[in-house]
Amino acid sequence: MALLQIAEPQQALPKKPQRRAVGIDLGTTNSLVATVRNGIPVVLADEQGRPLLPSIVRYGESVEVGYDAQAAQSHDPHNTIVSVKRLMGRGLADLSDARRFPYRFIEAPGLVQIQTRTGIRTPVEVSSEILKALRLRAETSLGGELAGAVVTVPAYFDDAQRQATKDAARLAGLKVLRLLNEPTAAAIAYGLDNGSEGVYAVYDLGGGTFDLSILRLSRGVFEVLATAGDTALGGDDFDHRVYCWILEVSSIGPLSAGDTRLLMMKAREAKENLTLHASAPIVATLSSGETLSLTLTVDTFASITQTLVGKTLGPVRKALRDARLDPSQIKGVVMVGGATRMPQIQKAVAEFFGQPPLNNLNPDQVVALGAAIQANVLAGNRAEGEDWLLLDVIPLSLGLETMGGLTEKIILRNATIPIARRQEFTTFRDGQTAMAIHVVQGERERVADCRSLARFELRGIPPMTAGAARIQVTFQVDADGLLCVSAREQTKGVETSIEVKPSYGLSDTEIARMLQESYAHAADDMNARALAEAQVDAERIATATAGALQTDGGLLLAPERDAIEHALAEVRRLISGEDRRALQAAVDALNRVTEPFAARRMDRGVARALTGRRVDALN
Ligand code: AMP
Repeated sequence: MALLQIAEPQQALPKKPQRRAVGIDLGTTNSLVATVRNGIPVVLADEQGRPLLPSIVRYGESVEVGYDAQAAQSHDPHNTIVSVKRLMGRGLADLSDARRFPYRFIEAPGLVQIQTRTGIRTPVEVSSEILKALRLRAETSLGGELAGAVVTVPAYFDDAQRQATKDAARLAGLKVLRLLNEPTAAAIAYGLDNGSEGVYAVYDLGGGTFDLSILRLSRGVFEVLATAGDTALGGDDFDHRVYCWILEVSSIGPLSAGDTRLLMMKAREAKENLTLHASAPIVATLSSGETLSLTLTVDTFASITQTLVGKTLGPVRKALRDARLDPSQIKGVVMVGGATRMPQIQKAVAEFFGQPPLNNLNPDQVVALGAAIQANVLAGNRAEGEDWLLLDVIPLSLGLETMGGLTEKIILRNATIPIARRQEFTTFRDGQTAMAIHVVQGERERVADCRSLARFELRGIPPMTAGAARIQVTFQVDADGLLCVSAREQTKGVETSIEVKPSYGLSDTEIARMLQESYAHAADDMNARALAEAQVDAERIATATAGALQTDGGLLLAPERDAIEHALAEVRRLISGEDRRALQAAVDALNRVTEPFAARRMDRGVARALTGRRVDALN
């Protein structure tokens, strides 16, 4: 007899074991790992209690990651890799600022490689060292192997950059549950995904970069509507303004490299101090023995950095313009990045959007915390009643080009991902041994009106009569939105595939435009589709008739042949025109005049098949 576990009323069910899942913020300057403990997201600190891990890797006698690598940065710059995130998924040609990095890049086609003391390293390998350090930290802290991780990436990361991040995580021994956009992670940390629908802005000002994202939450799904930013604007620029102010107000002589570093550090300290205090002392002893003693007030700091604050509002306006929204339509503003702690930033953002921003979580940790919440859900650790799952949808249908320049939709728009769909196709011509596969995106009937995503060819199809081959095409979109299209010929099993990122390069405005066009042109498109289908059909019949005339023309009397040729010429004349009804009528006429011819060819075929065979062999 089967045993049933019965819970008495009021008695709690035994707790299901929690699977260890983490969220990782793989940052340009610093990285973090977080998890959900007893329902609360927390950042996991290292053994010394430090939550951040500097995203720095040094290839020395052994591989050092984090603070140790950071300490070696100034005396071993060639082998100490910083800001590797800027190199992910990039070729040397993509790096306009390659000379800003102190590394020995390898001149090779494909992705960037760096020559280090211990050999050539790729950005994927370097990032995997950071991820490995975070994995080990999490495993030590949580007491065992991880079930999986959610790793965050900037919303603007393209397919190659996302793939490189995924590869790095796998190389670090992590099971990637999903890549998550950084602004989406921040919104999740603030619980916006459980709230009402609306549009949110995520303002992310870190040490060296600024990103602004506009997200729309509807039906539990976050969509990135627009992104904008400045890859060379961040807290470091505020430090630099303070450094320049120090030079201006004090009459100090020429500075050594060490003095410059020291004053930049002091400038940063003063900046951070001013977040909580009305003034900050700056005291430093220079290499000349000279002592510097200054006081920077909040007002002076605000006035020397005013233009930088204003500079962040440029991308904010641009993103809003791209999303066709005005500030009053934004339901909430999430603050991310250490530099958003500065009161003048908080004030400028509040004034611009006409509401105080969401800032009660630690802005350095908010992305990692959101990733941890998402990882917890994806690992199946949901508490009872908490059955939400953050879903992503496909914004535009995905399909293939078929004969006549028409699209065949395989995955329809708004399908939730991950998803896989399969469909069979066949060959158009006798003896066809290859098939060109053109992957397109959009709602329109004609390929010319859709967006081309990728092309590839399936070769090695065994020659068969037209329509006999069976080619199975599979579209698979994973949880990160990566589309894999594969085509497989069923008899010989030849197969080929391709991966693409359908959303790459498409702004929401473009998606909206493509949708609007599809509604506006629905009737035209249906007519165009019917015409194209009739043209394909006519072409097939015309080709077959011409072939039959060539091989079996001898079966026809001269007037019969004339009639067929006349009907065939009429079909050919109309095939490239726009008159579908006339074309259809010409095809019907051709079918009628070729009927007796077809019958005679069939008889001859049977006769040929029988010639020379004994009757008993036919039984
Ligand atoms: P992130 O890249 O998000 O770690 O941000 C680093 C930047 O945040 C650096 O420029 C820091 O100086 C800045 N930052 C950190 N804490 C503060 C603070 N209390 N006030 C002002 N800026 C800060």
